[in-house]
Amino acid sequence: MYRDTQLLIDGTWQPSLSGKTIPVINPSTEEVIGTVAHAEKADLDLALASSKKGFDTWRRMSAYERNKIMRKTADLVRERADEIAELMTLEQGKPLYEAKGEILANADVIDWFGGEASRTYGRVIPARGDGIYQLVVKEPVGPVAAFTPWNFPINQCNKKIAAALAAGCSIIVKAPEETPASPAALIQCYLDAGLPKGVINLVYGVPAEISEYLIPHPTIRKISFTGSTVIGKQLAALAGAHMKRATMELGGHAPAIVFNDADLDAAAKILGANKFRNAGQVCIAPTRFLVQEKVYDEFLEKFIGTAKAIKVGDGLQKETQMGPMANPRRISAMESLIADAQKHGGQVRTGGKRIGNKGFFFEPTVITDVPKDARIQNEEPFGPVLVVSPFREMEDLIVEANRLPYGLAAYAYTRSVKTASALAAQVETGMMAINHHGLALPETPFGGVKDSGYGSEGGPEAIDAYCVTKFVTQASL
Ligand code: NAD
Repeated sequence: MYRDTQLLIDGTWQPSLSGKTIPVINPSTEEVIGTVAHAEKADLDLALASSKKGFDTWRRMSAYERNKIMRKTADLVRERADEIAELMTLEQGKPLYEAKGEILANADVIDWFGGEASRTYGRVIPARGDGIYQLVVKEPVGPVAAFTPWNFPINQCNKKIAAALAAGCSIIVKAPEETPASPAALIQCYLDAGLPKGVINLVYGVPAEISEYLIPHPTIRKISFTGSTVIGKQLAALAGAHMKRATMELGGHAPAIVFNDADLDAAAKILGANKFRNAGQVCIAPTRFLVQEKVYDEFLEKFIGTAKAIKVGDGLQKETQMGPMANPRRISAMESLIADAQKHGGQVRTGGKRIGNKGFFFEPTVITDVPKDARIQNEEPFGPVLVVSPFREMEDLIVEANRLPYGLAAYAYTRSVKTASALAAQVETGMMAINHHGLALPETPFGGVKDSGYGSEGGPEAIDAYCVTKFVTQASL
């Protein structure tokens, strides 16, 4: 059922002008399952011209009309969730139930942002003179260029699309070449719901070539990127050089803190589910487990039990709880991080190896006794591998939690309100979840601080990032 993916230019699915394509691989079987069209500059010029026209059309539609189209899109996404989930599992590897969950969650994202379109309020500022009205008006910033990765093929591009469209912007999406069909199927729902042509254009190709062309282009007024900190810094620098607004959703290395007074069963279960979800290829995955000394052994035993029980396999199989990693780069990354940890004295307590030699499967892996200068204590693993270290007092814990330049998500388990409040105040992070997971809902902010980026992909802040503020002062003559 897998299908080849074309470019969406000005409302029409089409091959690239050069006819070039890129193969798409199923990470469970390593077989080529299809292709995706490879855009070059001439295709991008068409997308840019279309996006400019699309913006003129879309910004003039009322928020009420935009919301109607978005609500209909959300309904179509729900109707097609099973079909789209299969595409996603084939190209990305995650278990079907995770793929379907991602798709249904994104129907909610579209609904929520569609409703929020009517609430991009400005304000009226009391004037100093009689008969003067001072208005603050929110306007859409203009055509957006979005660059989105393969780990959540739909979520990562839909969060940008839904917020941009709600604000009244058009958007050119450069979606992931490794997982192109599921985002294309999502965008088809927008088209079938009546989205005017040119409001979304979709391209694939060589990421660096596309971003280097689109970001400086005068048509593009804002960029949004999800991916690694290294690439994010390059794109933010380019955006800065051309005075383009930017949202950067980058890497993390989330501390997962377990205190002596925590509910250890709940902590092991919830952190385990969220660590190994999507084979650990999640920017907010818990990765540096910091466990208070008294409960260190007991928690470790429980957590290793959770990791060992996970059924790894092809995402299309019902019993699978963790699929393969999405590409072979992640296998070599895991192998080299683990080898480095062992060289530094790290003990692999479970897992540690690739599974088989067909498909990019990797064992859920827990490592202990890893000193702070080992790479895995500093680099985002982005895979099913984590480190567990003990801590004694709150002060040491805070130093360790804040040690890295990252600040995306942090997790903590404690029964003490005092401890919870102290953590919420002192951990340098964009998001803090205490005693449950609870992140990434459409209505709540999502984003990082420090090297994890800036801007939010949830809540009213997410739409604000696609708006500019205009001040109008008006006197009656
Ligand atoms: P990568 O850093 O080359 O690419 C990450 C993403 O950025 C991909 O989607 C890629 O297409 C895009 N990209 C790369 N160079 C680009 C450019 N010049 N212009 C525009 N887009 C560009 O590495 P990768 O092997 O695909 O992924 C590995 C690392 O990326 C991971 O270790 C992780 O840190 C990060 N990553 C983060 C997220 C996230 O959700 N924040 C998602 C995927 C990957």
